[in-house]
Parts: sequence; structure tokens; C-alpha cells
Amino acid sequence: TQHPKTALITGANKGIGFEIARQLAKRGFAVFVGSRDMAKGRAAAQSLCDEGYEATFIQLDVVDPVSIKQAAGTFSQKADHLDVLINNAAILEDHGETILKLNPELLDRTLATNVQGTIMVTQDFLPYLQKSPAGARIINVSSDVSTLSTMQTYAPAYSISKAALNAVTRQFAAALPHMAVNAVSPGWVRTDMGGAGASRPVDKGAETIVWLAAEAPVTETGKFWRDKEAIGW
Ligand code: NDP
Repeated sequence: TQHPKTALITGANKGIGFEIARQLAKRGFAVFVGSRDMAKGRAAAQSLCDEGYEATFIQLDVVDPVSIKQAAGTFSQKADHLDVLINNAAILEDHGETILKLNPELLDRTLATNVQGTIMVTQDFLPYLQKSPAGARIINVSSDVSTLSTMQTYAPAYSISKAALNAVTRQFAAALPHMAVNAVSPGWVRTDMGGAGASRPVDKGAETIVWLAAEAPVTETGKFWRDKEAIGW
């Protein structure tokens, strides 16, 4: 029997993550909707099922190692392989302070979610990614502000976390030569994080991520993407 392709998206109860889940489900993926909040995650998965798609809620708090291990256990009862992992969950809690006043606790919290969370989720789902018959794809949702070649003034904790996430992407790409591991900037997107004044609708923000997950050659790895083009780090 032909198994459907599977995808797990972290932080998929809303925003870009939910839109990625919807677009991949529409392309025939069995999607696993990661959410730290049970009620929000269940409602998000249910709304995809109501649209006729195959979606399963998975409780997954990326800062909690126990939650991640339980999520991997739950996943293994429902699927035998993972084709696509999208590390999308992130926080942006900077409040306008510059690096001169950066609160170390804010930096810790931001790195724990945006960087360490991605590392732990990737490590714990690796056994299932390694069973992907088509070659697994890992996509880390980064940001324009991760780029070190521009002047850095925006939200220091968040920007530092996304620069580190890019480094994490390169490390995993080198360590997993048989997989496609990439980072993507979605642009500035109208979500709770991006705000109502952002330039892009959520479907545009999800577009390149979905393309990398479903269409791009699996040989493309270790790169930073924006609007379906590899850009400089
Ligand atoms: P949202 O704030 O709308 O959504 C963020 C998601 O991450 C929510 O589902 C949230 O869950 C989840 N999340 C946060 N912390 C955790 C955690 N510890 N465990 C599990 N899930 C968690 O943001 P966006 O959709 O805009 O952002 C998605 C990605 O895109 C992020 O990586 C962000 O950095 C990136 N990005 C966004 C841009 C934009 O303009 N919007 C620009 C550049 C990058 P909950 O609902 O429980 O809070």
C-alpha cells in the first residue's frame, strides 16, 4: 500500500504554521499539527479535517523535553516515517530595548524556544525522518533579521536567535547529508507576530516553505531561501 507523505509543523495552531499545515494537507500530506496548547491545537486540526484534509493534533511544547519525547511517541503510534519537519514555532518578546539593555532572561527564553527547541525537536524526530522513503526535508523558519551582513538594530534577542537558527541549519545540513535541511525567510507576514501592518498575507508567507517541503529538488540543502530563491546568509 502507498503511504501518504507525512509532515509535522511546530506551532501550527495559528499564523504561518497553520497555513503551512493547510497548504501541505491540500497537497495530500497527512499533516501533524504541533501545538503547545491542547485546545487550540485540537481546534486547528479539526478545522483542517472539516475541510476534508488529513490532520492530526500533536501536543508539542518545544521548550519542554518531556513534551517533545511524548510527541515523538504519539507520532510513532500513528505513522512509521516522517517526510517533512517544519520548525516554525518561535517567540518574539523584545520590547524595543537595544542590545545595550538586553535582558538576559529574555535572551534565554528566546533562545530556548527559537534555537534549542528546534534542535531538540529535530533530534527526537530524526529516527522517523531517517525512514522517509523519498529523503526527508527539514525546514527551519528564519527571518530577514537573521542576516549578519546588514546593520543590526531590530529586536536583539529575536535577531540573535534567528542568526543562531541559521547556524543550526548549517550544522544539521552538514550532519545529515542524505536529507534536505534549509532555512527560509517568509518575509513580513500579517500574523499575531507580524502585526496587521505587515506587507504579506499569510499564504504568501507560507509559499516558499511549502515549496521547499513539497516541490523543490531534495538535493537543495544547507541554504537560506526567500521567495523560492537561495539568498546570502
Ligand atoms: P505567531 O505568533 O502567529 O505564531 C507562533 C506560533 O508558535 C504559535 O502557534 C505559538 O503557539 C507557537 N509557539 C511559541 N512558542 C512555542 C512553544 N514553546 N512550543 C510550541 N509552539 C510555540 O507567529 P508567525 O506565524 O508569524 O511566525 C511563524 C514563524 O515565522 C516564526 O518562526 C517566526 O519567527 C517566523 N517569522 C514571522 C514573520 C512575520 O512577519 N510574521 C517574519 C519572519 C519570520 P501559541 O499560540 O501557543 O502561542
